[in-house]
Amino acid sequence: MQIKTVHDYQASPELLKNKVILVTGAGDGIGRQAALTFAEYGATVILLGRTVAKLEAVYDEIENAGGATPAIIPLDLKGATAQNYQDMAATIKDQFGRLDGLLHNAGILSILSPFNHIEEDDFRDSMQINVTGPMLMTQALLPIMQLADSASLVFTSSGVGRKGRAYWGSYSVSKFATEGMAQVIADEYSTTTIRTNVINPGATRTSMRSKAYPGEDPKALKTPLELMPTYLYLMGDESTKDNNICFDAQ
Ligand code: NAP
Repeated sequence: MQIKTVHDYQASPELLKNKVILVTGAGDGIGRQAALTFAEYGATVILLGRTVAKLEAVYDEIENAGGATPAIIPLDLKGATAQNYQDMAATIKDQFGRLDGLLHNAGILSILSPFNHIEEDDFRDSMQINVTGPMLMTQALLPIMQLADSASLVFTSSGVGRKGRAYWGSYSVSKFATEGMAQVIADEYSTTTIRTNVINPGATRTSMRSKAYPGEDPKALKTPLELMPTYLYLMGDESTKDNNICFDAQ
């Protein structure tokens, strides 16, 4: 996959006006910031996550800032079934008629351990939340993304999704799978109006990062806000021609 950076991208204030964008893991970390930023640039944002109180707080922030009224979809990717995703797609179609953008951002770190100590349950959870859930969700949502003039499908990977690293077991495997899934879809849909790309956020000041590196000074890290030029670029029409590319957000 080609690697590209657009750190210096400057979005016009109405870049995402009239776009309907779903963000998974929208209650915290990078997903929360992406939801707020997409709304600030005009999008109607669908906030998906497992902790309703966090989604409601983001909803309120968007409304208080004068953004378009968002929607909330409480869903735990760990237990969600194909039928849950099909029902969700039907609801979005009823309410909005189409989907212009899908940011697969929700994810878990899993337990960092020597390979021989990876527990089956932890491996299964990582694959379920980081790979199987996004796969089933994408299958359900592609038909309503095809109803948009042009639609952007974005998967979130990691440095360890491109180069395996000792002790990053389940997480690293799940991110390699994420990149593989994105490449398959990008190739299959390359002649359609749906573009598929991957984002690698890089080390970012969130609770996931502090769990992985508890001794690190968070102030040394970029904030989710600082990554937003890349997220905006990918959701806006200036990236319409980009497909099958991995964007480094830092
Ligand atoms: P984060 O702060 O831990 O946020 C993760 C979000 O995903 C939370 O909103 C969480 O919901 C949600 N989530 C987790 N499990 C879920 C489930 N089963 N169902 C629904 N939602 C679920 O993580 P982050 O650092 O912002 O990471 C965002 C993405 O960037 C992830 O895909 C991560 O792998 C990737 N990434 C992050 C870094 C970094 O340095 N931060 C680096 C490379 C890649 P709750 O709040 O309810 O738990």
